Amino acid sequence: MEYYSNQISKLIEELSRLPGIGAKTAQRLAFYLISQPVESVNQLATAITEARTKVRYCKSCCTLTDEELCPICASQNRNHKLIMVVENSRDLAAYEKTGKYDGVYHVLHGAISPMLGIGPADIRLKELMQRLQGDVEELIIATNSSLEGETTAMYISKLVKPSGIKVSRIASGVPVGGDIEYIDEVTLLRALEGRVEL
Ligand code: ZN
Repeated sequence: MEYYSNQISKLIEELSRLPGIGAKTAQRLAFYLISQPVESVNQLATAITEARTKVRYCKSCCTLTDEELCPICASQNRNHKLIMVVENSRDLAAYEKTGKYDGVYHVLHGAISPMLGIGPADIRLKELMQRLQGDVEELIIATNSSLEGETTAMYISKLVKPSGIKVSRIASGVPVGGDIEYIDEVTLLRALEGRVEL
């Protein structure tokens, strides 16, 4: 069964652990990398290691950043009383691309999913509740319109309601089951503007 040298097998094995990379793609990538000049492979390896060691979670919104506070949380030009809750940093990027949202974010890094055994303690909810102790006027829940996203929205809404902070949910312009990161900017903006209070 050993068609390849140990090093190549090991590389293929590591690559095939990446999301969306099947055995065939892993093989193709491995042979491509081996065919490249050593310097360019080193550059890739360094970029991966540096990103992994230097990137961390923003102290306030939990998005991925390389500073203690991300540029959005550190900005004076943002409305810090308006917090949009998103599932991941890619969704944050999607809303930032619209250029029309001037509040800040909170990144959950996941959604509640009883099926997958992901509970409230497995996402960044505790950090959100801590932030709400401060001066916050509105929480916009912009989780995906999947079962997990809706479950998470309901959960947060119930949790936050007693505090008196306004809680709203982005409108149904986002198709059911649709991933926010793949939705066009116009639809995202419409969903944001048409948000309904929970
Ligand atoms: Zn931040």
